[in-house]
Amino acid sequence: PRALADEEAAAKAAAAVAETGAPTIFDKIIKKEIPATIVYEDAKVLAFRDINPQAPVHILLIPKIRDGLTQLSKAEPRHAEILGHMLYTAKVVAEGEGISEGYRIVINNGPSACQSVYHLHLHIIGGRQMKWPAG
Ligand code: 5GP
Repeated sequence: PRALADEEAAAKAAAAVAETGAPTIFDKIIKKEIPATIVYEDAKVLAFRDINPQAPVHILLIPKIRDGLTQLSKAEPRHAEILGHMLYTAKVVAEGEGISEGYRIVINNGPSACQSVYHLHLHIIGGRQMKWPAG
């Protein structure tokens, strides 16, 4: 289908830009230069509602400092602490949304997973029955 082809093309283009280490739209959200509906924030991470939600609850959780983490496959040993903090915080955010009974955590890594923003992020998705396998 056309929509999927477009998504794949956009993901490949985004990956090419990522190789330059360019800032992403998430930097503007972190600096509050563009609006986002923030649902959780601490010194290290920020969580806000996805602009194109795939479920009643769809939140993105990001590290405030990218530190080379354009995508999970770039992770180094020094990133283990922030990665653990992100996953724990996802649990806290899900609780705050009232979806602890069932939700999905997703990381799209790279073009073949249709990653479109090269600043590591967890998707927290819930509020409806999820299907498996994911597409
Ligand atoms: P990815 O495809 O890289 O895993 O996820 C990127 C996500 O960022 C997408 O779900 C997309 O809807 C979301 N997104 C892209 N631009 C913005 C924006 O400006 N604001 C918000 N809140 N979400 C965005």
